[in-house]
Amino acid sequence: MIEIKARGIIKIAETTYKLKNYKYYHYPPKVPKHIDIEVTNICNLRCIMCPSDKHKRKRSFMEFELYTKIIDELDQLGIKSVWLQVLGEPLIHKDIIRMVRYAKEKRGIGRLGFSTNCNFLTPEISRELIESRVDRLIFAIDAATESTYNLIRVGGNYHETVKNIETFFQIRKKLNISEPSVRLQFIVMQQNKNEIDDFRDYWQNKIGERDQIAFKPCDNWAATVENFILLEQKQMNVSFEAWKSRMGEINGRNKKVSITYRTPCHGFLFTGGSILSNGDFTVCGLDIEGEMKLGNISENSIHELWNGRIIHHIREKHMSNKVDEFNLCKNCSRTYRSLSI
Ligand code: SF4
Repeated sequence: MIEIKARGIIKIAETTYKLKNYKYYHYPPKVPKHIDIEVTNICNLRCIMCPSDKHKRKRSFMEFELYTKIIDELDQLGIKSVWLQVLGEPLIHKDIIRMVRYAKEKRGIGRLGFSTNCNFLTPEISRELIESRVDRLIFAIDAATESTYNLIRVGGNYHETVKNIETFFQIRKKLNISEPSVRLQFIVMQQNKNEIDDFRDYWQNKIGERDQIAFKPCDNWAATVENFILLEQKQMNVSFEAWKSRMGEINGRNKKVSITYRTPCHGFLFTGGSILSNGDFTVCGLDIEGEMKLGNISENSIHELWNGRIIHHIREKHMSNKVDEFNLCKNCSRTYRSLSI
């Protein structure tokens, strides 16, 4: 009886969601709103929640010439938001500062950023980055102690990372430049959930006015990182078992029971794609193996691939509840919504 009632609620939720988002799904923008550019898929760390060291693609650095071709087209198309990353550590790329400067010289690119583990954030790089006028950076730390950091950010140096970040803030203050805004990021996991308060206490007086300390749940990277959320998703999918919102649990809010329903992609498919380090353009920033590749930017333009036959076919399938036909989307958290009851 409870299951029949739950199915009814889910059906209503799914239909309401589609109606409310009719325009979003039926009239996707003719140009993407946002593009991820992977400058490299190489990383110096082996963090436990990240697929960077587990993916099978050939490791490479994006050529500067290919990068400028992409930026030129983004500028022409008026795409304002660019993230210089899919996998990998951008600061490893020898041309990263040159790349940032090139993009910032283009007036169309107004929101440029990337995330870094800060192990290579030397004082010199910090100064160059600040002077390049990059708009936003994520500093990924995920711990308030060395022992927890070592469990999560395998291969990194906690004290060096903290020192680099503090020096970055000092240099930015000295230069009296407000950009970039920085998000100090803490992905909440079993391993570090007891350090949330210490992390906040340590950093809150060190950040600038436009910076942020952000606690976020672990992404399952469309089920490529198996040990975290996939299990939870399987449970809710198979048995309609009540589950609690992950953020709700983390924040101590929203303790109500939630049911989960399925939607077309509310992630990348209708808003933006990713260009991998070899130039492959894929529909999704979570597509770390390039399974949903639309073409390669050396041969095709972003505009033609974004409006082409392949992406149209994928969107149609999503709209007709056939999300599961795509391996990547099948277990992706961006095809689920939850409703508190
Ligand atoms: S549903 Fe598919 S296209 Fe959308 S974000 Fe998830 S994996 Fe990417």
